[in-house]
Amino acid sequence: MASAPLVAQTVPSPAAPVAAPASATPPKLIVAISVDQFSADLFGEYRGTFTGGLARLQKGAVFPSGYQSHAATETCPGHSTILTGFRPEHTGIIANTWTDLGIARTDKQVYCAEDETVPGTTHAGTYTVSDKHLLVPTLGERMKAANPKVRVVSVAGKDRAAVMMGGHNVDELWWWNGKAMVSYAGRATPAVVARANAAIAARIAAPQAALDVPPVCKAHDVAVSIGEGKSVGAGHFAREGGNASAFRASPAFDGAIVALAAGLVQDMKLGQGDTTDIIDVGASATDYVGHTFGTEGAEMCIQLQQLDATLGSFFDLLDSTGVDYEIVLTADHGGNDIPEREINAGLPGAQRARIALSPAIAGKTIAAKLGIDKPVLFGDMPNGDIYIARDLTPVQHKAVQD
Ligand SMILES: [Zn+2]
Repeated sequence: MASAPLVAQTVPSPAAPVAAPASATPPKLIVAISVDQFSADLFGEYRGTFTGGLARLQKGAVFPSGYQSHAATETCPGHSTILTGFRPEHTGIIANTWTDLGIARTDKQVYCAEDETVPGTTHAGTYTVSDKHLLVPTLGERMKAANPKVRVVSVAGKDRAAVMMGGHNVDELWWWNGKAMVSYAGRATPAVVARANAAIAARIAAPQAALDVPPVCKAHDVAVSIGEGKSVGAGHFAREGGNASAFRASPAFDGAIVALAAGLVQDMKLGQGDTTDIIDVGASATDYVGHTFGTEGAEMCIQLQQLDATLGSFFDLLDSTGVDYEIVLTADHGGNDIPEREINAGLPGAQRARIALSPAIAGKTIAAKLGIDKPVLFGDMPNGDIYIARDLTPVQHKAVQD
């Protein structure tokens, strides 16, 4: 027994893959891709079925059991770690939304990628996108600090993904705001972005027929009731014209994000200058598909097969530029399936989070019961910590706590 590992270590099998020798020159372009909610589970489930970009990447180094070592595995903390090398306790991005009892806002909530000091804004909906809460530099920033000729580009379906991967010193940074790909106020819109927005608008305006179900997805193509007459699991992304939220939770959204990234690579001639450029791509559709339909239906299966094809086309385009590029692909966090399907899969205790237990709603119930006419609880839903208001009397504080 004792000798076996020694033999294994000293006499490699002839069939063992041989690592390619390290390149003597640095790449001209780094492509960092984050697939939102692409869990190790999903990768493990589907990795053998990919034929496009996700198959091609598997010819390189694969770390199939990646996990986050931080507690709040949400989008913003996750993206803040990917290109900084720091955990959220250092990046400052401890959650998507956190509570700061010291601010003037009545709900005391701060969104990770906003400047909450802008008057009249709220943490949801009307916020001003900002990098101010990211406390550490990204890889692109470090590269640019070493050589100002380095160009840093970040494109994502979510503002927090684009900001946290791009950092504070970016040449182009674009995200989807629900209607168009946008950037910080005052920035010029390159022609390629205007063209992308026109194409996306036309795509949303037109109805979308159901997508084909690939053979590998047939076994997943089973409808599961989620109550109120609704079901998921057998959706194929058909949508009526004008439905932007259905577009966002579909493979076409990643198609649009990646197409813009490809357009920026071409128009900016990334990787064709004197130094190494970097482009970050936040492919956000997988997360919207997961939240809308769960992870084990036909929808997620189709989404991943389409993402595989989309990335394959992207890599073909990168090849056509002749640029020596390197790609890293990872995820900001994982995700679990909907409780209705988990129950069918042998987890009878699975259930949905009860909205009545959210700090805002439970706080109102408690305040009414105690006869306190102001907010008593603060916190994000469904994750995170719960805070008791500071301006309560000791008696009120104890009553709320009890
Ligand atoms: Zn996410």
